[in-house]
Amino acid sequence: MKFSRVGVVGAGQLGRMLALAGYPLGLRCTFLDRSAASPAGQVAPILTGDLEDAAQLAALAACSDVVTFDWENIPASALKPIERLAPLRPPRAALEASQDRLSEKALFSKLRIPVAAHAAVDSYPQLTAAARKLGFPGVLKTRRLGYDGKGQFVLRDRAQIEAAWTAIGGAGLVYEKFQSFTREVSIVGSRSAAGQTVFYPLSVNSHGGGILHYSVAPYANAKLERAARTYLNRIMNALDYVGVLTVEFFVVKGRLIANEMAPRVHNSGHWTIEGCVTSQFENHLRAICDLPLGSTRALGHAAMINFLGTMPDRRRLLNIDGLAFHDYGKEPRPGRKLGHCTILKSRAAERDSALAEALKLIRWT
Ligand code: AMP
Repeated sequence: MKFSRVGVVGAGQLGRMLALAGYPLGLRCTFLDRSAASPAGQVAPILTGDLEDAAQLAALAACSDVVTFDWENIPASALKPIERLAPLRPPRAALEASQDRLSEKALFSKLRIPVAAHAAVDSYPQLTAAARKLGFPGVLKTRRLGYDGKGQFVLRDRAQIEAAWTAIGGAGLVYEKFQSFTREVSIVGSRSAAGQTVFYPLSVNSHGGGILHYSVAPYANAKLERAARTYLNRIMNALDYVGVLTVEFFVVKGRLIANEMAPRVHNSGHWTIEGCVTSQFENHLRAICDLPLGSTRALGHAAMINFLGTMPDRRRLLNIDGLAFHDYGKEPRPGRKLGHCTILKSRAAERDSALAEALKLIRWT
């Protein structure tokens, strides 16, 4: 079957970059989201409605050969009916596993992928018990709907238990041991329905307040890369996955501890647009449209910096040689991802000095 019409549930910046990657291949994306002014709605046709709107989801599926999503917090049950109308890729099981931090960790553990010691918390006494058992520091997180550090509280000692409970207390939490990591890395890979897989080089990610500030790639560490590929491959095979899948890890004492996965293209993979032969966006589309996957070979040394809350001065940034600028077309709001830039250089040292220069021009607000 020839797939060339892609329905996308959610029309954020990830959807926008998917649509832009699709045009040269003759793949056309149509979106569903609340506002026609959303980032992807500015570059491709969009149906407006709630992401759970059954009638609009059916309308999206009716005009698509395959349906995907750019946001993993859509209730998986809302997508079930459209599976009868068009293939949903990645599969709903991947969406479900990634929506709940406990089921995600259970999946990782089942696949022998190391995770931080953790305990489910649904009440104040359970938090006290979990903190006593696992110790401090620890991180209390909401199991669902948490992203970019939202719904998290770091507890340094016992005295903070009450404050943590006041901040995010309730049912549906997880307490996990704080990981003293040397760095955070992520791996992005793509799998086709026929089982072909490709993996991008590792990227090293720097966060502030739980949100990604910048990534540097490729991170050349053969041992960690081998482990990350093995783990990602296990998850893809277990879920009979189709599309791009990302896993974020903490590096602790030279070993990978899985933090979370995203059943979609990922912010830490934006550098692949300019930095690799085939971008993560194109490889997601190729996978879900039954096309051969493209080379993930890096073209040099890249750094990607997010624009958060405030757009930087475009003219000044564009003065940096080898810098590509991406504006998502969003209204500025504190902490909001508004765009990013990618620097690509042939040498790591050149990349590092251009990154330092660019960072001076960017303020995260
Ligand atoms: P998450 O929403 O789980 O991706 O968390 C966002 C960021 O918070 C991570 O990228 C880390 O920088 C930090 N973080 C989350 N969980 C932990 C942990 N168990 N130990 C240390 N840092 C953490």
